[in-house]
Amino acid sequence: MIPYGRQNISQDDIDSVIEVLKSDFLTQGPKVPDFEATLAKKVGASYGVAVNSATSALHIACMALDLGPGDFLWTSPITFVASANCALYCGASVDFVDIDPATYNLCAKALEKKLVSAEKNGLLPKVVVAVHLCGQSCDMERIWELSRRFGFKIVEDASHAIGAKYKEHYVGCGRFSDLTVFSFHPVKIVTSGEGGMVMGNDETLLEKLRCLRSHGIVRDKALMKREADGPWYYEQVSLGYNYRITDIQAALGLSQLARLDEFVSRRNDLAVEYNKLLTDLPIRLPYIDPKNYSAFHLYVIRLKTEKIQKSHLEVFNAMREKGISVNLHYIPVHLQPFYKQLNTNFSNLNEAESYYREAITLPLFPDLQPEKQLYISQTLRESLGGFD
Ligand SMILES: *Cc1c(COP(=O)(O)O)cnc(C)c1O
Repeated sequence: MIPYGRQNISQDDIDSVIEVLKSDFLTQGPKVPDFEATLAKKVGASYGVAVNSATSALHIACMALDLGPGDFLWTSPITFVASANCALYCGASVDFVDIDPATYNLCAKALEKKLVSAEKNGLLPKVVVAVHLCGQSCDMERIWELSRRFGFKIVEDASHAIGAKYKEHYVGCGRFSDLTVFSFHPVKIVTSGEGGMVMGNDETLLEKLRCLRSHGIVRDKALMKREADGPWYYEQVSLGYNYRITDIQAALGLSQLARLDEFVSRRNDLAVEYNKLLTDLPIRLPYIDPKNYSAFHLYVIRLKTEKIQKSHLEVFNAMREKGISVNLHYIPVHLQPFYKQLNTNFSNLNEAESYYREAITLPLFPDLQPEKQLYISQTLRESLGGFD
C-alpha cells in the first residue's frame, strides 16, 4: 500500500537519538529547551513550550487562556477531534463555524456573522481555534480584527502548518493570535515520534504553560507563595499534568527541524506535479490563497460528483483496491456520535457537510517517487469511471 503520509528519518536523526540514550538525561535534560528555542527562533516567536503531543498543547493553551466552565470555544468542524476536545477538557462548551468554500478553512465571513448574532444573545466565544487545514493558514488578519472587535482569544492549531507562511511570515510567529500549536506526530511534517509545542509571545502565558505541563509545580522562588523550607522545596500552585516530552523525542524533533524548509519545499513541488497530472479531471484541485505559502501536509481533492458516474465511496474503494491508501480529512466533528449526544444545536455547517461528501486525500510525503505519483494519478483517472 502507498500510505497517505510517511515520516522521513535520516542517519543524522538516528545518531542524535542515540546520543541522548548514551547521555545523563533521557528526560528534562538539555534537548528539550534546545528544541524549544530553535523552533521559536525559526518561526519568529518569543518562546515555545514542548509537550508530549499537540493534543496536550491545545489543552494547556486553552487552560492558560483561562477557558473554563460556562465559556465557549469555537472551531472548524473540518479538523481532527483534538481541536474541539480541548474545550471539553477545560469544562467549556464547543461550537462550530462553517468552512470557506475555497480553502476549506474556518470561514472568516461565517465567523463574523455568527459573532454578531452571538453578541445579541450574550454567547460570545472566549477562544477561537483557527485550524490551518492541509497546511494553509486561515485568514488570520481578518480573524484577528474580529477578535479585537468581539473580545476573544485565538489559538492557531498549526498541526498541519509548520514551515508554512502567511503574509511572508512563518506560521507560529503569533502576529495575529495569542498562542500557536504544532504537532510532531509521524504523519505530520516534522516528527519527534509523538510531541507538540505551544508557541507564544506573552511572558505571563509562558509561566502558566510551563507550570501546567508539569503538575502545576513551580521551582522558581519568585513564583512561590511562601518561603522555601530548604533546598528540596517546590510548590504546587495549580492543578497541572505530566505532559512532558522526553529528551529522546526532543533530539529527534530538533534534528528533523534542520530539514523543515526542505520538507515543505518538496511537498510543494509534489503538489505542483499533482496539479499538472490531474488538471483535466472532473475534480477540484487545492486552492491556495495568494497570501499563503502552504506547508502541504495534505493534498485534498474534491470530486465534482455531478460530472462523475461513480460515487465518492466507489472512487475511494477503487483507489484502496489498487494499493493506494487514500484517506478523508476529516469527518465533520459535529457529526461524531460523541458530539451529537452533547445535544448542542450545531447548525449552518452546510459547506463542511458537502466537503465531506466529496473530499479525498491523496498520498503526499517527501519520499513519494515520481513513478508512484504517476501511478496514483492514472489510477484516480480510471477510478472516476466515465465522465463528461
Ligand atoms: C494531528 C492533529 C492534532 C493532534 O496532534 P497530536 O500531536 O497527535 O496530539 C490536532 N489537530 C490537528 C488539526 C491535527 O491534525
